[in-house]
Amino acid sequence: MKSDAFYDPRDGERYVHKWGYADTRFEFDGPRAVRVTGDRYKISGFRMPYLIPFVEEIIKLPISQDDLIEEWVSYDLPDQVSNEPFVADVRAALKAEQIASDAENRLAHSHGQLSVDEIFRVLTGGSFTRLIDVVVFPESEDDVRAIVKAGVDHDVCLIPFGGGTNVSGALAVPEDEARMICSVDMRRMNRILWVDKENNLACIESGIQGKELELRLEEQGLTSGHDPDSIEFSTLGGWISTNA
Ligand SMILES: Cc1cc2nc3c(=O)[nH]c(=O)nc-3n(C[C@H](O)[C@H](O)[C@H](O)COP(=O)(O)OP(=O)(O)OC[C@H]3O[C@@H](n4cnc5c(N)ncnc54)[C@H](O)[C@@H]3O)c2cc1C
Repeated sequence: MKSDAFYDPRDGERYVHKWGYADTRFEFDGPRAVRVTGDRYKISGFRMPYLIPFVEEIIKLPISQDDLIEEWVSYDLPDQVSNEPFVADVRAALKAEQIASDAENRLAHSHGQLSVDEIFRVLTGGSFTRLIDVVVFPESEDDVRAIVKAGVDHDVCLIPFGGGTNVSGALAVPEDEARMICSVDMRRMNRILWVDKENNLACIESGIQGKELELRLEEQGLTSGHDPDSIEFSTLGGWISTNA
């Protein structure tokens, strides 16, 4: 791990909808102090008696343990729009486990991390009028070609998905979209294809997550030079498309 990196190189279970690793969260430690759980970050395990007073001063609202809202996600989702010829073509090109249409995947791929809207709604049982209908997980360029061809042939909307970390509503599904909507989760395309050290160039698949990219480049004494706060989960493709 780089001495100045703020992230822990270990992988771990990620929250399905909200930001972060499931081992790390703020917990009350007495009525006026908090502690960060786990051992992933430099602040993990420390009691912080000054955080609540500081935040209260900034937001001008009192913070009390009694006001905690219980998180609950409603998986009572709107019906799927289905385009059978598209689904048949995609099934012919991909393995069964590269296609998902369960409620958790549909909802998780329909939002980013826009906390005041998307995350608040998801974590308080909010309702959604339109969501992703199916999620596909390409593993190669040929898979992507087949998915795009099927989408074009059968008039299905394709939305690429990276780490789902954007804070701009970039993954929000248009509410009045009548066509089937397919999320293309790029994270299985995470290979570094080649590195040209002489010219500082590299060819890397777009689904690689930032932390993984840095750890693998570091093995060769290199860095991408890009260091967003979301590096643990955001992807190369997401960085490029959002101009991060
Ligand atoms: C805690 C936190 C910290 C953050 N810190 C920073 C920061 O320091 N700097 C910064 O700039 N941003 C930051 N962000 C915002 C966010 O991380 C960036 O916008 C990031 O680039 C999004 O990448 P992603 O892979 O998560 O993309 P997603 O959220 O999955 O997608 C974003 C958009 O890119 C498109 N897309 C994704 N992958 C591809 C692909 N392979 N091909 C084509 N289109 C694609 C999607 O369709 C969508 O429109 C932060 C967000 C959070 C939650």
